[in-house]
Amino acid sequence: MEKILMLAAVEADGTFAKSALEALAAAKTLQAGLAGSELCVGLIGADVQKAADSVAGCGVAKFLAVVDPALKDGCYSADAAAAAALVKAAGATLVVAPATSRVNRFFSGAARRSGGHVDTRATEVAVDGGAPVVTRWYYRQRMTGLLKRAARPWFISVDPGSMRPADPAPEKAAVEAVSADLASRTKVAGVKSPASGAQTIRPEAALLFVAGAGWCKKQSDGATHVPEAETLILSFLDKSKASLGGSKSLVDQSGEGAEVLKFMTHLNQVGQTGATPRHPKGLSTCCHGEEPHVVGWRFVNERRAVNMNASCGWAQGKADVLYVADAFQVMTKVNELL
Ligand SMILES: Cc1cc2nc3c(=O)[nH]c(=O)nc-3n(C[C@H](O)[C@H](O)[C@H](O)COP(=O)(O)OP(=O)(O)OC[C@H]3O[C@@H](n4cnc5c(N)ncnc54)[C@H](O)[C@@H]3O)c2cc1C
Repeated sequence: MEKILMLAAVEADGTFAKSALEALAAAKTLQAGLAGSELCVGLIGADVQKAADSVAGCGVAKFLAVVDPALKDGCYSADAAAAAALVKAAGATLVVAPATSRVNRFFSGAARRSGGHVDTRATEVAVDGGAPVVTRWYYRQRMTGLLKRAARPWFISVDPGSMRPADPAPEKAAVEAVSADLASRTKVAGVKSPASGAQTIRPEAALLFVAGAGWCKKQSDGATHVPEAETLILSFLDKSKASLGGSKSLVDQSGEGAEVLKFMTHLNQVGQTGATPRHPKGLSTCCHGEEPHVVGWRFVNERRAVNMNASCGWAQGKADVLYVADAFQVMTKVNELL
């Protein structure tokens, strides 16, 4: 009989993140498909009651938690020790967690400490012939693989944005405390993150707006218009709350001393050597749509592009709609309409 542990580090404000609800949905899928299996939730944090209450109606056997002020932000050693203690207390054979940056940091270590095996960034879990199956992408999202494993405990992290989140009713949860040796030489001095207004990468946004190198190139009047490009793009992001992506050619310009969009960094890069974001819609502007870039759009469902070149890559079956137009004019009009 499989014992499934859905593992999550609660947010700093004590809530259960959307990515954790997706992992919970994956764990529930396994529970539903594996006859006689049992599901429990293991939480890590400084105060987990609010998070446990918010998902208590999801029909789990029990809630286990390692609670300690040191687990508010977490560091590798404390998180890994807490996770291993929860796996042991639950007697887990399958461990499912969201592949957040915090979980990614300690998940493999916790698997190692538990004598288990780990597969990260699953985009689907299912049951086939009475055994769990994990879907995972390889070679920069070009190939998928289906994995079955006999080894237990099997640690599976779920790629955020890949599943429909569970929607359990809130109830009062009875949380069982689990102790763990959290002694650590690492002291978390604080967490630095950009102010939300300054942040251009918004994984939850409905739209991905991609800027390509064309924004910084000479235009029909023979001159570049980088300040205008910056104003147009920032104004659009502000109005639409879209997430900002960039092509490699654009983000690389900052290293070559050319006139650049100041808010664009390598973190924005989408593509083979960049990110593979998940947004329902994407709008590409001044970007040619070459394969190494477009492969990063693998999970964007509806794609549109604005390019002056009617033969650009987007026209070669890579976009649903290509507007053959000047993006400066198009985005000026779009901003007016917004
Ligand atoms: C191993 C490898 C890995 C790579 N990985 C990545 C990756 O991860 N991500 C990535 O993006 N690229 C990657 N590349 C590079 C990729 O092949 C392209 O070179 C790059 O994506 C081109 O960027 P771009 O389309 O912004 O620029 P360009 O090719 O210079 O295209 C600019 C476009 O802007 C258009 N344009 C100009 N002005 C306007 C205007 N006013 N209105 C509308 N359109 C306008 C032009 O028509 C042109 O199509 C990789 C390449 C290799 C070899």
